[in-house]
Amino acid sequence: MMMQTTGPNTGMESSMSGSKRPENTAGAKPLVLIVEDEEAIVTLLDYNLRSAGYDTVVARDGEEAVDLALTTEPNAILLDWMLPLRSGLEVCRHLRRYPETSDVPIIMLTARGEEQDKLRGLDMGADDYLTKPFSPQELLARLRAVLRRSQPARLKEILVFADIQMDQGMHKVSRGDMALELAPTEFRLLRHFMQFPGRVFSREQLLDSVWGREKDVEPRTVDVHIRRLRKALNANGDSDVIRTVREVGYALDLP
Ligand code: CA
Repeated sequence: MMMQTTGPNTGMESSMSGSKRPENTAGAKPLVLIVEDEEAIVTLLDYNLRSAGYDTVVARDGEEAVDLALTTEPNAILLDWMLPLRSGLEVCRHLRRYPETSDVPIIMLTARGEEQDKLRGLDMGADDYLTKPFSPQELLARLRAVLRRSQPARLKEILVFADIQMDQGMHKVSRGDMALELAPTEFRLLRHFMQFPGRVFSREQLLDSVWGREKDVEPRTVDVHIRRLRKALNANGDSDVIRTVREVGYALDLP
């Protein structure tokens, strides 16, 4: 007679060892980045998420959190507030500045329950907030909710503004019935504008969102690429949809 020697503890250990995710295959389970320095909570979260059908990856300090968020591009992030090297708040603010992670749902986890802290977390761009101790069921319900809310925007492959269309999957842009050839930077710039039509962005904001990690790029560089993007968009003698707001920046707007 065979005895199963695998207790629940062993099961957790083996699921933890698999938490460094080797590849991000299409159609795979949703990936959740757990950012937590308390081993017992990591184990609890990892076990429950994997049991519920998620893939997980674990960061144990604020620096690792940013690195893993950018390299693994998770579907959601559970982010502890008190962390070594960088606080959860700083991590949250930082991730919101990169195009890869600007719209990933973030649930802050914290021992603090004060209303003031909750507001600070949400101000920094967190989508939801859980106070420790929380039940795994509550966490999973919140996670499903933020994933559901985030999906329409993330799945939006085709962006439209006036007569301009951008197919993100196919990496194609057209205006009217004319296909446009855009260089990679101009493509990202236009995509950013199309995600936030009408909103005015300063050069610094555009550098953060469109250029992301590349340092040493001067604000004037933005002007150069705006000029190129304008030229490409207006090649057919169409009206100029990029509005220059003097002393402020640029917006995608109807003339
Ligand atoms: Ca902590």
